[in-house]
Amino acid sequence: MFDIGLALRRTRGPENVFDFSLGNPEVEPPARVTDALRRAVAEQRPHAHGYMPNAGFPDVRASIAVGVASRTGLPFSAEDVIMTSGAAGAINTVLKSILDPGDGVIVLNPYFPEYRFYIENHGGRIVPVETRADFQPDIAAIARAITPRTKAIILNSPNNPTGVVYGEEALRELNAIVREPMLAISDEPYRPLVYDGLRVPETVAIVERSVLAWSWSKAMAISGERIGYLAISPRLAEAAPLRSACTFAHRILGYINAPALWQRVVAQVPDVTVDVAHYQAKRDLLCDALQAVGYDAPRPQGSYYVFPRTPIPDDIAFIRLLEEEGILAVPGAGFGRGGYMRLSLTIAREELERALPGFERARKRAASYEP
Ligand code: PLP
Repeated sequence: MFDIGLALRRTRGPENVFDFSLGNPEVEPPARVTDALRRAVAEQRPHAHGYMPNAGFPDVRASIAVGVASRTGLPFSAEDVIMTSGAAGAINTVLKSILDPGDGVIVLNPYFPEYRFYIENHGGRIVPVETRADFQPDIAAIARAITPRTKAIILNSPNNPTGVVYGEEALRELNAIVREPMLAISDEPYRPLVYDGLRVPETVAIVERSVLAWSWSKAMAISGERIGYLAISPRLAEAAPLRSACTFAHRILGYINAPALWQRVVAQVPDVTVDVAHYQAKRDLLCDALQAVGYDAPRPQGSYYVFPRTPIPDDIAFIRLLEEEGILAVPGAGFGRGGYMRLSLTIAREELERALPGFERARKRAASYEP
């Protein structure tokens, strides 16, 4: 998408290109985050920039554990928390720890395409399972996909690309089918980005056999800083060996430890989040405008993506029609679900507004599209 964007900017002029394709926060980190960073630098703690235990600074892990324990009501302690390079580092760390070659990992379709690489990095086999029409988990379909070689299911709520938040009932039903040796890996980088005051059910509190992959990439708009954590549920019978395996895996995957300075920052301000109202306003603007000209574009409950149906079933052909209007979007096929497209709300509001007539024109042209 980067390359297509560059080529389009050259031919149309940068002011005529509207990039809805990338999930890179366009807002700056909140001032409380950059203030905490300044304080972390100014403190000049001894060995602040050196190696540390591979799981992270013990006092940082302890303070994160207090937060996870209070959110989930479970007795998380410092030893259950491994500081990681974002959610990607957390997921790779746990997959490396639990997979033998050929083991299956279920993902719910449509899904974040990097999951395939994360799973295959460690010799695993991706097993996509379709979601329901409303993109909620289809529990019967998941149950049918489970075999003795299924080691994990990755859950992502609020979801990329659909913006759906999984309901408590679905998570309870999942709890009944996630049985040893299977683990639920709850990938939650978008948890704080929810709209209309929605409360996101705590997967780790509901699904007993679960681990939490957390990241501040989106919440604080610091995706380049690579900071997150893996929290291993203390309810797991194998919690102790899994903690050791994950700490070792984190080291030998080459992460060694999560970025030192950023551990100090997030420990100071763990709950600071970018202005969600700003994304919600853009969500409403885009969904209202698309719906007004005939798109099927439900409002996402969370994340910063809108996942409308494309007006023609061939999403890749429709993406080309949008490109002719200077609009960059990601085809649903990239997430395993053709006939849709993902639009990121990280685009500047002024550009979003100027792109709207292009969406209308592309839809009209699609009506007479011949493959
Ligand atoms: N999981 C999902 C669903 C994502 O969308 C992303 C980033 O886009 C990641 C994980 C990786 O996040 P991080 O930057 O924290 O590694």
